[in-house]
Amino acid sequence: MLNTMLDELDHALTPVTPPMPPLVDGFGRRHTNLRISVTDRCNIRCFYCMPAEGVVFRPREELLTFEEIERFVRALVPLGIDKLRLTGGEPLVRTDLPTLVELLAAVPGVRDIALTTNGMLLDSQAAALKQAGLRRLNISLDTLREEVFERITRRQGLDRVLAGIAAAQDAGFEEIRLNAVAIRGLTEEEIIPLAEFARERKLELRFIEFMPLDAEHHWSNDQLLTGADIRRVVESRWGPLIPAPRSNPSQPAVDFQFADGRGSIGFINPVSEPFCGDCNRLRLTAEGQVRNCLFSTVEWDARRVLREGGSDDDLRALVRESVAAKAAAHGIGQSDFHQPERAMYQIGG
Ligand code: SAM
Ligand code: SF4
Repeated sequence: MLNTMLDELDHALTPVTPPMPPLVDGFGRRHTNLRISVTDRCNIRCFYCMPAEGVVFRPREELLTFEEIERFVRALVPLGIDKLRLTGGEPLVRTDLPTLVELLAAVPGVRDIALTTNGMLLDSQAAALKQAGLRRLNISLDTLREEVFERITRRQGLDRVLAGIAAAQDAGFEEIRLNAVAIRGLTEEEIIPLAEFARERKLELRFIEFMPLDAEHHWSNDQLLTGADIRRVVESRWGPLIPAPRSNPSQPAVDFQFADGRGSIGFINPVSEPFCGDCNRLRLTAEGQVRNCLFSTVEWDARRVLREGGSDDDLRALVRESVAAKAAAHGIGQSDFHQPERAMYQIGG
């Protein structure tokens, strides 16, 4: 009797899932954050990302199914992956995305799900995404002028993005950020109007430096408008910005409060101030390739493991291999830097 009770007590104290060693790379960086691309398709053609013409998308059968994505995430949670971001291509062109959000939100151990979108289809999907368990949204907005929008995206539709932003605010997301890619010769005129727009709507605005990930390989250092350049413009209008406390050392953005207390603004400076030393991100492409960096030239084939009867341990071993091979830094600006073959829309930004 006593033995049975002791056995039961022992059983109750044993964790159901034995803890597994976390995903730490050769430089001591612990990986907790997974960015999942759900498609390489997009409904616009931003010049800093996609080619203007002749895009060849992956055949649909190559894309991971929602069930495959969910299985991949379930396998990685015991290794410490607990933050997810859905991206693309444009994630909202993937049919029934709220169903994927719901599947992922139900995975025990997933603490946070976010989405990055161009906002074009958000108007009709915001409420369903919120309902499905999405907590945070990043909406890309580079300009408030239709003609500039068309120059950047080679499509019409700023009004749809603005309607998407309004719908997201109505749906009551915990956090909505606006992301603007900063490009010298283009963005200077947009800085103040975008900041005014964000302040009025109580949205956080972040500027991201243009990275060499455009499909046409036109990126050059001359097009770099740095976070410091933009900060100077903002401060000339609103006075000195106040550094915001940094709650998470792995967050790529450096955030500031406006001195008048009306809102905040952030800068993501991967080129002028690389933050690789604190990187905690892994990526899964739409067709199931694991990448340990945006600028990686090597990929690990999780789809093959998923589709050829591999176990969860096989998936974890593959991901560990990828993490172990992660380089110290992206190396932009160094003589041996090569822009990756894949552009941003094919990786998942
Ligand atoms: N289609 C969605 C969107 O645009 O928000 C999600 C995918 S997009 C690739 C993710 C983010 O990457 C967007 O904020 C986009 O502006 C940014 N981006 C794309 N190409 C970039 C580049 N070459 N340099 C910096 N940011 C880039
Ligand atoms: Fe599409 Fe986003 Fe790339 Fe623009 S940045 S072309 S919206 S995937």
